[in-house]
Amino acid sequence: MNKGDLERLTQQLHDLRLDLEQREMEFKGDGKPMELDQTKVGRLSRMDAMQIQQMALESSRRRQQQLVKIDSALGRIKSDEYGYCLRCDEEIDVRRLLVDPTNTLCIKCAEG
Ligand SMILES: [Zn+2]
Repeated sequence: MNKGDLERLTQQLHDLRLDLEQREMEFKGDGKPMELDQTKVGRLSRMDAMQIQQMALESSRRRQQQLVKIDSALGRIKSDEYGYCLRCDEEIDVRRLLVDPTNTLCIKCAEG
């Protein structure tokens, strides 16, 4: 991986992180996890509202997992370990990283 790629991926990770943090903040900033306020919920049934709340919590959980992955990728960049497969130590194809910069496995290990 060349320097330009690394810079691009670092930037991508920072952008992703910012985006996720912002969405997390909006999610939490709304206060309590979505009260069943009839004006907001409108004609939704209570079941629907509960399902929506469940989904919101689920995506929050996913965002947090994603943040952990991003932070560990940024940590690997700092310690010059970024871009190498965690399992076999081979270089990960940069195109794979451009699709998802938090990838930690080379294509062989990911598929095997
Ligand atoms: Zn590998």
